[in-house]
Amino acid sequence: PPVEGPADASRPLVVIDAGHGGHDPGASGEGTLREKNVTLALALALRDALLADGRVRVALTRDSDRFLVLEERAGIARQLKADLFVSIHADAAETPDAHGATVYTLSDRGSDAAADQVAQRENRADDVNGVALGGKSEAVASILVDLSRREMRERSQRLSDLVVREGQGPVTFHANPQRQAAFVVLKSLDLPSVLVEAGYISSPDDARRLIDPAWRKEFAARVAQAVEIFLARQEAAGIAP
Ligand code: ZN
Repeated sequence: PPVEGPADASRPLVVIDAGHGGHDPGASGEGTLREKNVTLALALALRDALLADGRVRVALTRDSDRFLVLEERAGIARQLKADLFVSIHADAAETPDAHGATVYTLSDRGSDAAADQVAQRENRADDVNGVALGGKSEAVASILVDLSRREMRERSQRLSDLVVREGQGPVTFHANPQRQAAFVVLKSLDLPSVLVEAGYISSPDDARRLIDPAWRKEFAARVAQAVEIFLARQEAAGIAP
């Protein structure tokens, strides 16, 4: 996919991943409301917000209604040597009264049973194409890989902290807004990464926000702000880019 933004290759690169697409619609809301369309609209809004600030480069895993297996999404980030990965989703709620946004980071074990269920549903995206990558074991288990992974998880957690902090106000968060689970799309990434469930497509309140372009713009501005603060802090701490 094309890299947009400043031509300066030393600027950080953010890869935005719109969940689902093509013959995988993701979760369903009322009527014709499908997660794959919501995630694409949010991803495009986030891209626009980041490009408007002009400090970072941006690439999208998809900018149209197209199917990608989970490993391809991570593969794009690795191939482009991205500095940050944000996957956007809007799952159906696990309980009827659940509402609000949740920021997920990678963990081998879920922070709770509901988080595990979300990961299981999101990981199922690959099954529709007959690919089963979810159970694939890690090939390498050296101490160095382990340390790097731990550091990435800590950095991802800090990114998650910032998204929740900056989002307060326009973004309504779930009562338990920061959780961990084994998301395949995040698994092979050696860079800070989060999976944002922007809201529950099955919740009428959340769905009203998710389909509102003005809300999406506000959501995107807040997430972009969190991303920029995160990258500025990394730069100040002397961490590449
Ligand atoms: Zn999803």
